Amino acid sequence: MLIDDTIEQLEGLEIALRKEVPEHEAQILTWQPKKEDGTDPVELLDKYLDENDVAFVVTDYDLTGKGGLGLYGSTVVDHCQLRAVPVGDYSRGNKNRLPSEPSLFEIRVPTDSHEVAAQYIAAVYRGFEEIRVKVNGLATMPRSPSAGLAALLDRPNDQNQFSLYGVRYPTVNSGLLDRIDGGSETQPDQVRRLFGYVAGHVLLNLVLRYPGPILSLSALAAYCAVGRSEDARLRQVFQGCRYGGPFRDCDELYWLDQVTAVIDGIQIDNAPEEATSGELNRLALEKSLGVLLARPACTRCSGKNGGYLCPFTSRTVCLRSDCSLGSNGWIPAGARLSRIEKTFFDEWAPLLGM
Ligand SMILES: [Zn+2]
Repeated sequence: MLIDDTIEQLEGLEIALRKEVPEHEAQILTWQPKKEDGTDPVELLDKYLDENDVAFVVTDYDLTGKGGLGLYGSTVVDHCQLRAVPVGDYSRGNKNRLPSEPSLFEIRVPTDSHEVAAQYIAAVYRGFEEIRVKVNGLATMPRSPSAGLAALLDRPNDQNQFSLYGVRYPTVNSGLLDRIDGGSETQPDQVRRLFGYVAGHVLLNLVLRYPGPILSLSALAAYCAVGRSEDARLRQVFQGCRYGGPFRDCDELYWLDQVTAVIDGIQIDNAPEEATSGELNRLALEKSLGVLLARPACTRCSGKNGGYLCPFTSRTVCLRSDCSLGSNGWIPAGARLSRIEKTFFDEWAPLLGM
C-alpha cells in the first residue's frame, strides 16, 4: 500500500512498482489522503487495513500537503505498527536528516528515483513475505527473535551471533515483544505474525545493516582491505559465498564464515609480522589472483590496514585510534566488523549523544 499526498509521486511510484511486482504476485493499493473525503483520515486508514491483507505500507512521513489534515506519516506508522504491518518511510526530504540511532522498526526507502525506490520496496516486500511463509511452516515457535532468525536462515549454530544484535535494543515497541512472550494468551496466528514482523526487522535493520555474520559488498571490500574499484574481482572470488536468505535483493550480501573459509584456503608466504587482519586478507587475495589490488581510500594509513566498515559513513576504517571507535550504543555487539569512523564520531557525538 502506497500513501502520499502528492498524486504525481503516488502515480509515478505505482507505475514503477508495477514493473517490479507482477499483478499475480501482489496487489498495489494507493491512497492519497484528501480533505474532501469527509471522513476522519485515521478511520479511513483503519478501514483500508481492515479490508485488505496489507503486507507492507510505504508512506511519506509528511502527509500535510492537502491542508492540515492532521494525518501525519507518524500516525500511519503508529497504526501499522500496532497491527504488525511493516512501514517504509518514503519522505523526499529524508536525505538531509540528521543521522539517527538505529531504530528497529524504521525502514527508509531510497528516494533517488521511482525506479530505485520500487526495486527496494519490492525487495523488502518479498523478504517479509518469505519470512511469513517460513514462520507459518515452523513446527514450534522459536523462543526468541535470535532463535527464530537462526531457524529462518537455516543457521542453527548462529543463534548466539544473532542474539548479540538484539539484546541492546529495547524499543518503544517492547509491547510487541511482550505479546510474543505471552504466547499462550494470544492467538497462535497472531503470535506468528508478530514473530515474523520482529524477526524480519531485526534481520533487515540490524543484521544486514551492521556488518557481522553477513557482509554487504562494501563491508566485504573493507574486510579484505581493498578499494571499491576491485568489486568485480571480489565478486569473482566470493561468488560461492552469496547470502540467499530473505531481503537478499536489498543489497549484495555475503556470509562472513564462507568468505573466511575461502581466504583460509589460500597459503600466504612471507606475511609481514605486524600485518593487520585486513592486510592479511588482501595478501591472500593478491596471491590467489596473481595481481596487486587497489587499497581503500584512508588518509590515516594510506589504505594499508582496512578490516572494518563504518555503517554511518560507509567507509573502510581500521583499528588505529585516530581512525575509528569500537562498538557503543549505536552499533550492536554482534556487528563485529562495524566501527564508527572517528571524524564522524567527533562531528556528531556531542550533538546526538552517541
Ligand atoms: Zn586506516
